[in-house]
Amino acid sequence: MSNKSEFDDIFNSNNNKDSEMGATINLPGIKEFLTKSRQIIDEAPFEKYAIIAIDIDFFKLFNELYGRELGDRCLEEIATRLDRQCKELGGVAGYFGMDDFAVMIPWNEDYYSHLNRQINDHIFKYNMEGFYPSFGINVISDNSLSISSLYDRAVLALSHVKGNYTEHISVYSEVLHDKIKDERMLLIEVQKALQDGDFIFYLQPKCNTKSDKIVGSEALVRWLHPKKGIVPPNEYIPMLEENGYIVPLDCYVWEAVCKWQRSLIDRNIKPLPCSVNVSRIDFYFIDVADHFNKYTEKYGISHDLIEIEITESAYADDSFSFKKSIEDLKNAGYTILMDDFGSGYSSLNTLRTIKVDILKTDMKFLDVSKKFEEKTISIIESIFSMARELGVTVIAEGVETEHQLKCLLDMGCTYVQGYYYYKPMPVEEFEKLLTDGVKIDYSGFCYHPSEQLHIREFLDRNLYSETVLNNILGPVLFAELDEADNMKVVRVNEPFYKLVGIDGLSTEDFIYEMYKRMPDPVEVFLNIFHEAQENLLTGAKGDLHFITTDQRTLVFHSKVFYLCTTDKKRLFYVSIRTDDMED
Ligand code: C2E
Ligand code: MG
Ligand code: MG
Repeated sequence: MSNKSEFDDIFNSNNNKDSEMGATINLPGIKEFLTKSRQIIDEAPFEKYAIIAIDIDFFKLFNELYGRELGDRCLEEIATRLDRQCKELGGVAGYFGMDDFAVMIPWNEDYYSHLNRQINDHIFKYNMEGFYPSFGINVISDNSLSISSLYDRAVLALSHVKGNYTEHISVYSEVLHDKIKDERMLLIEVQKALQDGDFIFYLQPKCNTKSDKIVGSEALVRWLHPKKGIVPPNEYIPMLEENGYIVPLDCYVWEAVCKWQRSLIDRNIKPLPCSVNVSRIDFYFIDVADHFNKYTEKYGISHDLIEIEITESAYADDSFSFKKSIEDLKNAGYTILMDDFGSGYSSLNTLRTIKVDILKTDMKFLDVSKKFEEKTISIIESIFSMARELGVTVIAEGVETEHQLKCLLDMGCTYVQGYYYYKPMPVEEFEKLLTDGVKIDYSGFCYHPSEQLHIREFLDRNLYSETVLNNILGPVLFAELDEADNMKVVRVNEPFYKLVGIDGLSTEDFIYEMYKRMPDPVEVFLNIFHEAQENLLTGAKGDLHFITTDQRTLVFHSKVFYLCTTDKKRLFYVSIRTDDMED
C-alpha cells in the first residue's frame, strides 16, 4: 500500500474525539447516563426498553466545511431536542463528546420514528445534507445484563451503519453480532493482504465481434488468499464498499495497472487500453481524477491507455461533486464507461445528464440466457437506440453463448466481453495474446453512426412518405391470431392490393375474397406464425399459394414477424415476394 497515512486520516476522521469541541451541552456523560438508565429500568422492570447509540456521519467534516461555531450550535440543538423528547417519554439522553449521543427510552417504534424525525428535521434546517444521523438500536431483551454491556450492543449495532451511505439504522441481534465479527476479521485480513501484496488483477479481453479481435481489457481484482486460494471480488468488495476500505484497494489496483502498462512499453510490447473499476465510494473520499493523473504521471503512460468503469448505481448520485469528478476525468482524456448498465439503478435519462463514452450492458441483468423474450429484446433495443442517439458506444458484457452473440449482432452490437470469447486470465496469459499480434486490434472502440440502418429513427423523423415506404416494403399484410389460433387479416398495403389484383371491394369483402383464393390448409399458416413467435429476431419463412382471378397459381414467399400481443391477440407482420418480382 503506497499511501497508508493518507487513507488512515480519511477513515479516522469520523472516529476521533476532538477535544477542542466547544459545544455547551448539559446532558449526562457516559457514567451518569448508564447509572440513570439502570435506575429507570429497575423502577419499572416489566417495561420494554431500548438503548440507542446515535452518531452524525462525518460530523468533523461538517465542522471543516461550515465552521466549528455552526457545528457547535447544531449539536446543542440536537441535545436539547433529545433531552426534551426523552423526558417526555420517561427515558434519558446522554452526550459523550464530539457527535456521540445515546438515549434510553421505553421501546416503541413510534417513539423511535419520532426521535429520528426530530433530528433529521433539525439537520435539514441547517442544510446539512449528507450528514445523516445513524442509529444503533439495542432493544433490551434481558434486563439483568449489565447496563454497560447493553450500551455496548447498541454501539456495535451502530458500527454496522456508521459512515454507510445507504443505511442509517441498525438493530442489534445475535446474527448481526456474528456478521460484524466476521466483517471485522475479513477487514483485518484485507488490510494485511494489501500490505503483503496479496492482491493481483486478472485481465479479461474485450473483443470486436466483426473481427473477433481484442480491442482492450478490463482489470479485475483477485485476492490470492494464503489458505483459501483465489477469492473472487464479490465476496469482499460489497463489505469494503460499506465501510470505505474499498478506496485503498482500488488505488492499489489502479496503480498496479498503470505500472503494468509501463512495463509493457519497457518490454517493447504495444499496450492496449485497459479499464479499471471505480467504486462510487471512491468519489466520496478522494479526488479520483487527481489519483489517476498521479499514477499515469508516475509511470509515464498516456491517459488513453486507462479507461474508467463506474458502476451504474454510482450515477444515481447526481451531486455536483460527482458530476464534476466525471468532467475532470473526461477533460483529462480518460474514457469513461458506465458499468452494469441495465441493472436498474438509473434511468436511460441519466445518460443525458452525465456524459459517458461507453455503456456496458450486462447480460446477467437482461437474463437472455434462459429465453430471449420480447421484453428483454425491447430493453436491449431501447438501450442500443438511446446509445446511438447519443453517439455512445455499447459493449455487451457476460456474453456466454453463440445464441446471445447472434442476437446482439442482429441488434448492431459490435463489442463484447464475456466467456464466449475469453474468461478473465492472469496477466502473463494476456501478454501472450498481446504479443501474438494476429488477435489484436489497435483501432479501439469506434462509434460508426453510418454502419447500421435503424428504420425506427427514419420512421420517427417522417423522412419518407407513405407511398415511398410502401414501395420500399413491397406487398405487406398484418394478421392477428386470437387465443384459439383463429387467424384474421387485419390490414394490407397498396402494393399487396396490386399484387393480388382484387380491387374495388370493402376491406371485409376483400379479406373474404382472399381466404377463398388461398388453398393451403390453415396448419401451414399457423406453423409459420408460431415459428415467427418463437424467433423474435429472425422471424419465419414459408411459401403460401394464391389463385389469381385468371386462375394462375402464385407462390407467395412469405416472411413473417411477430410484433406484439394486444387484448390477447397476437399481431404479425407478413411481407411477400413472388418469383416474378424484381430483386
Ligand atoms: P464487473 O466490473 O461488472 O466485471 C465483470 C464481472 O463479470 C467479472 O466478475 C467477470 O469475471 C464477470 N464475467 C465476465 N464475462 C462473464 C460471462 O460471460 N459470464 C459470467 N457469468 N460472468 C462474466 P468478477 O471478476 O468476479 O468481478 C465482479 C465484480 O467485482 C465486478 O463486476 C466489479 O464490480 C467488482 N470488481 C472487480 N474488480 C474490482 C476492482 O478492482 N475494484 C472495484 N471497486 N470493484 C471491482
Ligand atoms: Mg467493470
Ligand atoms: Mg459489469
